[in-house]
Amino acid sequence: MSELDRYCYDGKGDFDLDKIDTDGNLDKDGREELKEKIEQKTEANNDKLSALQDKLYADGKEGLVIILQAMDAAGKDSTIKRVMSGVNPQGVDVVSFKQPGTEELAHDFLWRVEKNIPARGKIGLFNRSYYEDVLVVKVHEMNKTYKMPDRITGMDTDKFFARRYKDIKNYEEYLYNNGYRVVKIFLHVSKDEQKKRFLERIDTPEKNWKFSTADIKERKLWDDYQKAYEDAIKATATKEAPWYVIPADRKWYTRYLVSELLVKTLEDINPKYPELTPDAQKDLAECAKQLNEEK
Ligand code: ATP
Ligand code: MG
Repeated sequence: MSELDRYCYDGKGDFDLDKIDTDGNLDKDGREELKEKIEQKTEANNDKLSALQDKLYADGKEGLVIILQAMDAAGKDSTIKRVMSGVNPQGVDVVSFKQPGTEELAHDFLWRVEKNIPARGKIGLFNRSYYEDVLVVKVHEMNKTYKMPDRITGMDTDKFFARRYKDIKNYEEYLYNNGYRVVKIFLHVSKDEQKKRFLERIDTPEKNWKFSTADIKERKLWDDYQKAYEDAIKATATKEAPWYVIPADRKWYTRYLVSELLVKTLEDINPKYPELTPDAQKDLAECAKQLNEEK
């Protein structure tokens, strides 16, 4: 079993977020030595990723949607930065899902998502996603305040979200049936580590901008968020669209696991450079001949 398999949940068996470590269970002794080795592996993965992405784009048959969900300061931004460093930016669309605006709220919750699904051959990297609609919306019971008919706003909360989980599952199946893979990542950080990172953001002037006083308010709802994540992961993990709960207390380890996951997913897709038909090969030979004969 690879390190990554330990953190994969595809809907089979029990799922208990509490039981999944946030630090990779790495032995304290020799951790520095390990870090060096792991960083080398991440570098090697980045090279593989770059080659695979080139093929994915050239092949143009399958699209990849990577969903990044996490509590604040779990490292979404730095993970995105690292992933992007190994790929051709032309083949990746990074989309940040913020608080929905008036127009977005006036539509169904997947409306803004569908517009951001990448073309096949590309990677869509979602910084937050439609999962916010069963996370922050659930924690704050925003569904009760939606401008929608009473049959929806008045619905029992559990029932409302059970429906949304089902909608999400169906939507991900729909994407799969249309030539997409959806990979869902939850960066699993501990409450202590979040505190450390918040304090660092407050203490370092260059990092002040990353901190918002609202972050503290959400931190107070930590347990509600963990429960909402657990429920959402449990309800939406499938073989075709599994969740990866990635330990996020050590950034170098997080980056390694995410790079492993991306390489594994692309290897599984197994993209190939298009092969030319005999006629097209003949045309190429003719073009080469003309170029060589140029005066
Ligand atoms: P940073 O790490 O820079 O803080 P962020 O992803 O937290 O990045 P913010 O602009 O701070 O970005 O926050 C976006 C906010 O939008 C989050 O609090 C998120 O919960 C909220 N949000 C996203 N989608 C929805 C949604 N569908 N309904 C309500 N709130 C949402
Ligand atoms: Mg934020």
